[in-house]
Amino acid sequence: MKSVNKSALICVLLFTMTTLSAQTRRQSVDLLVLGGTIVTMDQTRRVIDDGGIAVVNGRIVAIGPRAEIESRYSARQRINATGKVITPGLINGHTHVPMVLFRGLADDLDLQEWLTKYIFPAEAKNVTEEFVRVGTRLGLAEMIRGGTTTYCDMYYFEDAIADETAKAGVRGVLGETIIDFPVADNKTNAEGMAYVEKFVNHWKGHELIVPAIAPHAPYTVSEEHLKAARAFSDRTGAPIVTHISETKREVDDSVKAKGASPVAYLERIAFLNERVIAAHMVWPQGSDIAILKKRGVGVVHNPQSNMKLASGVAPVPKMLSEQLQVGLGTDGAASNNDLNMWEEMDTVAKLHKVFTGDPKVISAQEAFELATIRGAHALHLDKEIGSLETGKRADLLVIDRDTLNQIPLYNVYSDLVYATKAADVESVVINGRIVMRNRRLLTLNETAIKHDARVFRDRIIKSLGTSTGPQ
Ligand SMILES: [Zn+2]
Repeated sequence: MKSVNKSALICVLLFTMTTLSAQTRRQSVDLLVLGGTIVTMDQTRRVIDDGGIAVVNGRIVAIGPRAEIESRYSARQRINATGKVITPGLINGHTHVPMVLFRGLADDLDLQEWLTKYIFPAEAKNVTEEFVRVGTRLGLAEMIRGGTTTYCDMYYFEDAIADETAKAGVRGVLGETIIDFPVADNKTNAEGMAYVEKFVNHWKGHELIVPAIAPHAPYTVSEEHLKAARAFSDRTGAPIVTHISETKREVDDSVKAKGASPVAYLERIAFLNERVIAAHMVWPQGSDIAILKKRGVGVVHNPQSNMKLASGVAPVPKMLSEQLQVGLGTDGAASNNDLNMWEEMDTVAKLHKVFTGDPKVISAQEAFELATIRGAHALHLDKEIGSLETGKRADLLVIDRDTLNQIPLYNVYSDLVYATKAADVESVVINGRIVMRNRRLLTLNETAIKHDARVFRDRIIKSLGTSTGPQ
């Protein structure tokens, strides 16, 4: 009896020692995502079944088959993604995030009427730092829920937007607007430039925020001020976020006033370079695409906003065939009316098919590329984000694959672009931090956000003296 006990003890000891040595051999990391199908969007577009990802200090240190990752790493924090799909976080290449508070304020108008009769007056009466903070929090919550991990913004009080974005743990290329009329945060160009100087200095080098300068458009900012914005970007390295060639009218006016299309004009004044991020580009003329390619400009296509304002259809298949850096965006929620990148992907694939009469243009995989790796290129952030690869930032989504709209499943890209809905996003990791887990937001208070936004709705209605109300 005694000897049996002794040998049992030795067995337990040996087992414990073996387990301990296996554990010490395994490197400790911050986060492990294990199981599920990983859609990497790397150069070879590798898809890993039953995969695993290890994360340290916000970056991916290993990605591969689950068994291999599990044998090499241990972590306190784990996400079990068995049966799910893991993708890079989505990149919303163009928006004005606080404008969610104007969602549905004025619909079914063209850009000029919508802007001058409704949006500019509503902004003049309502945009304050508090408005911007409340709107940004609402937009961030919507974006996280929909799997957007990086967004490119252009608005006022961008410093407050950066503050809210960093607090929520979301990545942003955030541009302070420069425009040639008095706006909420700055009354003159000199004030605007002083603001942007301080703003960029404050956020430069932040692990989530890329501060930018955002001259609104070539038709709202003078040549002198556009040149000053470019000089500022040369000096600081800040990206330049702008709108170019959104409507036919903008192009016609430019040809009349400047003797050149907006792109040719910007080329003439030496504005374009590899730090420029140009939203829309619906109406490129003559050699515009060649100029954009030569200068390394990133272009962001906003199909739903362009459709809603009847601005036109950007020649995206042509841009892609000429290897332009094209991404995808929602534009502000006032002209969309949401910040849902799943809808943009679905729309971009279908819009260009019907517009060209060719069902082969913009495949599901290409549409998914526009929202991930191509979007990263358009924002000039492709070394950091846009795909799941060793060394890149850990910005990723865990997507439920068990919802009715996804069953059965034959092709993962088809599923992601044509069938997945924002509500299927289950967990979101940005820079290695879990910001949504099992559909629960961890960095934002959803109840407070909804309440604050509704308070602003009432204030906006009063400020405009309209009868707009519950209908
Ligand atoms: Zn815009």
